Amino acid sequence: MKTSPKTYHWLFDKKRTRVFYKQKDYVDYCIMITLCFFLLHISYSIHNPVGFLGSIICAYMLVMFPIRHGVNLSAPILIRRPLESVKSVLYRIVNIKSTWVLAIVLMLSDNCFIFLTPNLPHNSQLMRYVALSLFYIHLVYISLYRTLILFRHLQKIPHIQEVLEQSVYSKQTSTIKSTTSEIIFAYLTGLLTHIITLTPWYMTINLLYFSLISAPVTLFLSCLIHQHFYKTKSDWYYRDHWLSHHIEFDFVYLHGNHHDTIPSGLIGVAGNGFLEGFLRHTLGHPTTFLNPVAAFFIHNRTVKSDINNHQYIPGVYPFVTTLETTHHSVHHYGNLAPYGLGLILTEKIHFTNCPEKEKSRIRKLPKAYTEALKLDESISGYCRNNTKFKQYKELVLKFEPKSAESNRPVG
Ligand SMILES: [Zn+2]
Ligand SMILES: [Zn+2]
Repeated sequence: MKTSPKTYHWLFDKKRTRVFYKQKDYVDYCIMITLCFFLLHISYSIHNPVGFLGSIICAYMLVMFPIRHGVNLSAPILIRRPLESVKSVLYRIVNIKSTWVLAIVLMLSDNCFIFLTPNLPHNSQLMRYVALSLFYIHLVYISLYRTLILFRHLQKIPHIQEVLEQSVYSKQTSTIKSTTSEIIFAYLTGLLTHIITLTPWYMTINLLYFSLISAPVTLFLSCLIHQHFYKTKSDWYYRDHWLSHHIEFDFVYLHGNHHDTIPSGLIGVAGNGFLEGFLRHTLGHPTTFLNPVAAFFIHNRTVKSDINNHQYIPGVYPFVTTLETTHHSVHHYGNLAPYGLGLILTEKIHFTNCPEKEKSRIRKLPKAYTEALKLDESISGYCRNNTKFKQYKELVLKFEPKSAESNRPVG
């Protein structure tokens, strides 16, 4: 593993660090939402219920920004430093890993096979129908889960208010005016992020072809590519996420939405903001270009675990599931580091309640993924026994003692 900070922290310009949206971002925010609106219409169209729903949420976001942050009309970054957006894409291209290239090669090979053998029964239309069905099953399944979490949150408003007031969150933000409205805002942020993050997959299904004949081979190779992605995921994510917090354009246009809510699982998708989801799944994640059946299972697992792993308000469904095994909670309670996945999954092997099946799954995963936190410890200077993490653990111990207890190591 390369562990020099220079490899991960290089920039063409000086750093402009950001963690929260500010009043002065409103014009940029409006441009960003307009871009989201166009993206929704290019991919889904206005006549598609998903595109229509996404557009309504975009309008809601434009109204909510002034209410939550206020407005200070200043020249947008796109006019002040237009090259920042170009550099942002360049950084992402440089950060591309071999698994992304392999996924593109696999998808193009399948399309060449169909094009060169038109007389074979590829059943491309049937494959597209299956892929689209899987796309909608995934979106509906996750949205129902997100809606269930919304109702459980709405049933516990005084509890959520109390938890947030006792956490460092209340000292860092002045955006909370009504807990109910913040819960709904987090839900709609998660829903819109999900809809936009899936646009590359939806466009791939509609613009490219998949052969039924080669499906067993592409499915097998897709699983291999996905497994291999685990080896480089931590490395790729660290750099991508670090950029999102140290380039102002990246924070305001890509990542900011992910930090603009209460720290709840309601926002979970894949750790990204609206347009960041599109960019990452076009120029980072290989999933978009894999066999649609593989993509379906990967998206289901990724989004559901991202929702569960972002529940940092203890005592509320889906409850805290990753107290000692990820330090990403610290990032959502206002600390910049850890920039990486923050995982220390190998700790789980020593937990009292960890099933044998889970232990063997963790042992099979690459260390670069299961011990991703070590990357932060070596290059961002993150210390795992920091005050914010201790405060968060105390919060869980107070409001969800069962989870705090089951996350304890044996002995
Ligand atoms: Zn972040
Ligand atoms: Zn996150």
